[in-house]
Amino acid sequence: KNRRLEKLAHIDGLTEVYNHRYFQNFLEKEVSRADRNEKSISLVMIDVDHFKAFNDVHGHLAGDFILKELCRLIQGNLREYDLLARYGGEEFVVVLPETEKADAKMVAEKLRLCIEDHLFAGPEGEYQITASMGVASIQPVKDTFKRNDLIDFADKAMYESKRKGRNRVTVYTSRKKWFGKGS
Ligand code: GH3
Ligand code: MG
Ligand code: MG
Repeated sequence: KNRRLEKLAHIDGLTEVYNHRYFQNFLEKEVSRADRNEKSISLVMIDVDHFKAFNDVHGHLAGDFILKELCRLIQGNLREYDLLARYGGEEFVVVLPETEKADAKMVAEKLRLCIEDHLFAGPEGEYQITASMGVASIQPVKDTFKRNDLIDFADKAMYESKRKGRNRVTVYTSRKKWFGKGS
């Protein structure tokens, strides 16, 4: 029974994926492990596009249904050691241990397409949504940044996806080319 209570404390009530706190602990451990073992680790930040408008048009219950189904969809496309968590609201994170940048980008692109193509068939209707994503990675030896940097960089890349028109994947690069002309 204790173990069940402990498990519940790690799980988001609506979507039944891991919650924010569990994600933070998990990422901390995985970043240290990657560092020790000189392995890459990647993080994907996922934010549902125009979700406020979705709620306004279809209602909050339909919105809740989307978030639950979205989690099932994402989970079904991950490997055993990847971790999906609800970062907050309509934002989700995927931790990809032992995954380098190019592979993380492919994972994110696969998820993006899969979301775009999915028909969310709820009790009151059928819906389609899109999501914007940001990817950040730590490469062994080369990068020395830590958990909070990884989150910050994935978040920045996600916002760049929004800025470029949504429903896309952006990979964080320290060269910050995106903030140049035209932004
Ligand atoms: P953007 O494309 O820029 O991300 O626009 P957005 O409307 O998705 O972003 P914004 O941050 O303005 O709004 C987020 C919306 O997500 C508003 C909030 O009501 C909704 N939301 C957050 N959590 C939940 C939830 O648990 N259930 C439902 N139904 N809606 C939620
Ligand atoms: Mg958001
Ligand atoms: Mg959003």
